[in-house]
Amino acid sequence: MIETPFASAKRIVVKTGSALVAEHGQPRHAWLEKLAFDIVSLRSRGFQIILVSSGAVALGRKSVGNSVSNRLDQKQAAAAIGQLRLMSAIGQAFEPHDVTIGQALLTLGDTENRRRWLNARATLETLLESGVVPVINENDTVATDEIRYGDNDRLAARVAQMMGADVLVLLSDIDGLYTADPRTHPEATHIPRLDQLTAEHDAMATGANADAGVGSGGMATKLAAARIAHAAGCSTLITLGNRDHPLLAIGDGARATLISAATTPANARAAWLAGHLTPEGSIELDEGA
Ligand code: GLU
Repeated sequence: MIETPFASAKRIVVKTGSALVAEHGQPRHAWLEKLAFDIVSLRSRGFQIILVSSGAVALGRKSVGNSVSNRLDQKQAAAAIGQLRLMSAIGQAFEPHDVTIGQALLTLGDTENRRRWLNARATLETLLESGVVPVINENDTVATDEIRYGDNDRLAARVAQMMGADVLVLLSDIDGLYTADPRTHPEATHIPRLDQLTAEHDAMATGANADAGVGSGGMATKLAAARIAHAAGCSTLITLGNRDHPLLAIGDGARATLISAATTPANARAAWLAGHLTPEGSIELDEGA
């Protein structure tokens, strides 16, 4: 059983991957209904939840006639189609609970540029105040290779940082971090909690999630996300998403890896600068300096 960080949390960002929301190019409605149920239950206990969901590309691929291509323009066209299907499926899952969802499509620039960051934050705050569940994805249709996250794990971490979330839940196809990939190393052991992330942990994550197929984030990107969250004073929980009630299961002690927040949460602006993915400019010091 893991020590759940939910007890003291107020705001939680939940990230779900393509393999959870889509299968053979179709939405996994039954699973989404369970996820919606869990989110509604947590909200009724006073938590604010922001959902970051992948799946646009996976749900649109068939309609652009190619289910495997990695060509950027085809993926972007697939996302343009699939994003609508994704939101429609998520909206349907919340309908029985009379809960409204709102879509925010972000690009890297929205979380790197201070003015856009503040603007996005104000919008998401208003959605939360209005009782809406914000559903976020990367704006895949316009984000090109150089200016995109490419994986929603880090996007979710930046959203958690932007919104001052206490917990980031990464729903994965594995129930946490192991000392090695348990699918190829049966002797690998599960790590329930980490207070620091080191290069040693990065080495453990290599390939741990690589064969999931539809999504682009593996365990390595999950740890990169956890690092951003950690510095921003947000704990990260990596747990298995493919179960009936993935969020309620956490409270019931489901196996997970908790990466705790830095004990002294970094000053928000300093953390924002530290988490930059695309450095702009450089400083040169001459001998005299
Ligand atoms: N944003 C992409 C999508 O919605 C997925 C990125 C990822 O797999 O993390 O398909």
